[in-house]
Amino acid sequence: MGQGPRTVREAGEFGLIAELAVALPEAARAGPELGIGIGDDAAVWTPSPGEAVVVTTDSLVEGIHFRLDWTDWLSLGHKALAVNLSDLAAMGAVPRIATVSLGLRGDEPVEDLRNLYRGLGALAARTGTRIAGGDIVRSPHGRALHVTALGETRGGRVLRRDGARSGDVVAVSGTLGASAAGMALLAGEGDRRAATADVLVAAHLRPEPRLALGRSLVEVGASAAMDLSDGLYGDLPKILAASRVSARIDLGRLPVAAAVRALFPERWLDLATRGGEDYELLFTVPSTRWDEVDKATRDVGSTVTAIGEVVPATAAGPRMVVFGLGGGEREIAPGAFDHFEGDG
Ligand SMILES: [Mg+2]
Repeated sequence: MGQGPRTVREAGEFGLIAELAVALPEAARAGPELGIGIGDDAAVWTPSPGEAVVVTTDSLVEGIHFRLDWTDWLSLGHKALAVNLSDLAAMGAVPRIATVSLGLRGDEPVEDLRNLYRGLGALAARTGTRIAGGDIVRSPHGRALHVTALGETRGGRVLRRDGARSGDVVAVSGTLGASAAGMALLAGEGDRRAATADVLVAAHLRPEPRLALGRSLVEVGASAAMDLSDGLYGDLPKILAASRVSARIDLGRLPVAAAVRALFPERWLDLATRGGEDYELLFTVPSTRWDEVDKATRDVGSTVTAIGEVVPATAAGPRMVVFGLGGGEREIAPGAFDHFEGDG
């Protein structure tokens, strides 16, 4: 008889699927609109009449997107779903169902996977997302979590990247740089024993998708939006390119938590602009609607900060210009995060 906790290999694929389904809270399992869920060949879902379906998928790969010595399985489950729901939030969509595929080595204790599903299930239940099924495959060279989330529009409208117009306000929700600061702390940089360190680490391990804010932004008429996964300097150029406009950003107005500035006095601006994984919303809105946006976001318990304005593109194309914090105007080259950087 084997000693120690039962592993994925010992449970077998079907045993594990059954145990993981049970680890989900009731509210994250099949509901009336999900006619057939986990356990059949495929899930069947009926979207609301007249609404469009919004689909997104995102993967977390061990060693690239997560390290098991930095995260617990509950948080990992939360994050695997959260990064997908963040994309739905950025579209102003309402999450409905998600599928989860796991690439596992086989030596994982079943209890770890149950915790993964508990973390994922808690966020799913809280956001009205049903886990409709998935797949488990052997992946001996590294673990990976693949989640696909489906949402639907409300009133048939979505937030796109290509609607920013000259004169619009550029704004972000929440604060920038907390996740990157948390990751730096996990990597051994900065003062991990500081009173505020845990909040920053939590921002990295358990990002909160801004779903209510995304829906508010649709209602108030935001002109463009996306979620911040690659940092302001990586992501804003994507809106500018899609909308064929430029932007001027006042660095003095960036919302950066006091803890980030205090623990990383030399690097806080870099963390806030290039750090990534904030999972806040970056959006543009006609300036005449700003007061409405401000009120609507407070109604859903969010904060938003205007950080600049959209201006016409130059003959050379869209540009991102920054100023403030004692520096003159300078252009930031669109250096989007490159997923394959470092491979060469
Ligand atoms: Mg996104």
